[in-house]
Amino acid sequence: MARRPVSETPVEELGAGEAKRQHRRLGLEIAEHDRRYYQDDAPTITDAEYDALRLRYEALEKRFPELASAETLTSTVGAAPSEKFAKRRHAVPMLSLGKAYTDDEVVEFVARVRRFLRIPDEAPLAFTAEPKVDGLSLSLRYQNGELVAATTRGDGTEGEDVTPNARTVSDIPHRLLADDPPDHFEVRGEIYLTHADFALINERQIAAGKPPIANPRNGAAGSLRQLDPKVTASRPLRFFAYAWGEVSIMPANTQNGMVAALAALGFKTNPLTRLCRSTDEMLEQYRLIESERATLGYDIDGVVYKVDDLSLQERLGAVSREPRWALAHKFSAEKATTVVEAIEIQVGRTGSLTPVAKLTPVTVGGVVVQNATLHNEEEITRKDVRVGDTVTIQRAGDVIPQVLGAILDKRPPGSEPYRFPETCPACGSSAVRELNPRTGRVDAVRRCTGGLVCPAQAVERLKHFVSRNAFDIEGLGEQRIDEFYRDSLVTRPGDIFTLAERDGRSLTRLENREGWGRQSAQNLFAAIEARRRIGLDRFIFALGIRHVGETNARLLARHFGTFEALREVGIRAASGDAEASAELTAIGGVGEVVAEALVDFFREMHNEGMLDELLAQVAPQPLEAVSATSPVAGKTVVFTGSMERITREEAKAMAERLGAKVAGSVSAKTDIVVAGPGAGSKLKKAAELGLQVVDEDGWFELAGGQNA
Ligand code: AMP
Repeated sequence: MARRPVSETPVEELGAGEAKRQHRRLGLEIAEHDRRYYQDDAPTITDAEYDALRLRYEALEKRFPELASAETLTSTVGAAPSEKFAKRRHAVPMLSLGKAYTDDEVVEFVARVRRFLRIPDEAPLAFTAEPKVDGLSLSLRYQNGELVAATTRGDGTEGEDVTPNARTVSDIPHRLLADDPPDHFEVRGEIYLTHADFALINERQIAAGKPPIANPRNGAAGSLRQLDPKVTASRPLRFFAYAWGEVSIMPANTQNGMVAALAALGFKTNPLTRLCRSTDEMLEQYRLIESERATLGYDIDGVVYKVDDLSLQERLGAVSREPRWALAHKFSAEKATTVVEAIEIQVGRTGSLTPVAKLTPVTVGGVVVQNATLHNEEEITRKDVRVGDTVTIQRAGDVIPQVLGAILDKRPPGSEPYRFPETCPACGSSAVRELNPRTGRVDAVRRCTGGLVCPAQAVERLKHFVSRNAFDIEGLGEQRIDEFYRDSLVTRPGDIFTLAERDGRSLTRLENREGWGRQSAQNLFAAIEARRRIGLDRFIFALGIRHVGETNARLLARHFGTFEALREVGIRAASGDAEASAELTAIGGVGEVVAEALVDFFREMHNEGMLDELLAQVAPQPLEAVSATSPVAGKTVVFTGSMERITREEAKAMAERLGAKVAGSVSAKTDIVVAGPGAGSKLKKAAELGLQVVDEDGWFELAGGQNA
């Protein structure tokens, strides 16, 4: 399913019709993600993205109660059990938890509980606070002290019977530690994997040629739900007990007392569980647990508060799928704290030196993070991040995780500020911070001056050359480039295209190398062959000229039509021809900085040599004439609101392909505004300016079926 952004229009501004449509769409989307998460153990979105969908869904139901029917998602938990395992009903349902993201919401939760129970503010009311372990919950049934059944949460009412698998988990006792065991007693808790065990499992996966598992929670779920218990036994799963289901006796009358009783019966309980007598104490425990998060060695995603007095829990009961007496105070899914073990310098394709923090592994937004960028010399100096520091890191979407800053309270004594190297770690050339003549400021980035002699730059250029939006050669990823460069098989782009021919003459054939075989070598040669003809825009982008990203490459391709034409003007400009320089600067959207970078590129003799070699092997293809004939060619288009048939990204790319210019804001220069559901101020402005406004279907009509 394509990922669409949740509509940005506030729910309060929606009409009933639009709300109904969004509710239905979100419902389907959430159900699909539930299936992926609970049944396939293979989610495709992050928890934060999922929570955003869910929050919007719930907000819609709150504002338009008629949308909520008995079967809506908000009254079910998780997904129906999968078909692989026998099903078992829970005698007492396994509920979900209400969520809070801010301190204010916690204060409001406590106030709500007090109001419900008519307990005045000054009267005592205690809560437990404990980590919300990020695994999967499991219910264990003991009959006369013997483990007889283990059932997953499933949809909360009915789960999967995983008894033989649960028996292989060493934290799960086969017999309760009790002289006089209760008739029946259900213990509930969380199955999870430690980071260390997760890393081991992934090592084994990779060694066996299988794809690595995204995060410890998926690893735990996948390990528990193996059809063959022997496989489960080989995975070192762990279990924390924190709740109970159907029981014939109650050993305590408080939450805290029950957790102690579970420990006495032989279960591991979480040592960070604490009894709190005020909201302040609850929040204090939240912060403590958050600050310990990096060093626990397993994933947690928040703190759970529970009313301590069980008779009060009973009075509070549950509403739809959530108990009124508990709350999950979640950590920001995209942020985490961890420790900087080392700082390494990476050399980019243009010689930029990027400091990278090597971290104690931590899960952020569903993936395990071990490296995070510290951007450049200016940033690392400004943030004063040091080796040994506990830091907050953030991950947003697919971008490289970044270090936000150090937690100074946790800085080890005697630590020293990081000293940025003044020479390139790859080639030893001096590394400098250039002065920008236009701004008069020193560049934030330090760069290696080694140019061609720097192996790190050469490798990065090759990686860029074969990357997805450039030559995109299947089977030639970053690791292979490293390998080929190290063994001098490929040191310049043109070498890629002579690889097969040289291989035929070589004594050490590719297919005989470790990790290769006849088929994989043949596949690679075929993939390379297929790229001898390539679009001119991709070709220009692949060269990795500074400041020439995809957009500029496309503008240049469109302007010059052939590579020869660009090269000719570039060389003339490089040799001081003012007219040629002026032509480069005058290309709409290109500008001076890019023109200068082109001149620099064509001035370098070694680039000329590289291009000659490359052009003897590949033929860049002029852009198709499609853009000239399109009715939107040359028009400025603004997209606003959400789109149904394609993503906004795709729509933008399509417009550019057809020769339109895509702008971010509406002005008198705008020609067409494409407005989807949820369009707000931009649509209003378009109406004020009397611009042409079309909906998504209108856009496809205008584009004239040229979207292929
Ligand atoms: P959710 O699935 O996000 O609605 O949250 C409920 C789930 O949190 C439960 O089913 C458990 O799997 C999990 N959980 C983890 N730690 C705890 C805890 N200490 N107390 C209650 N639930 C927990």
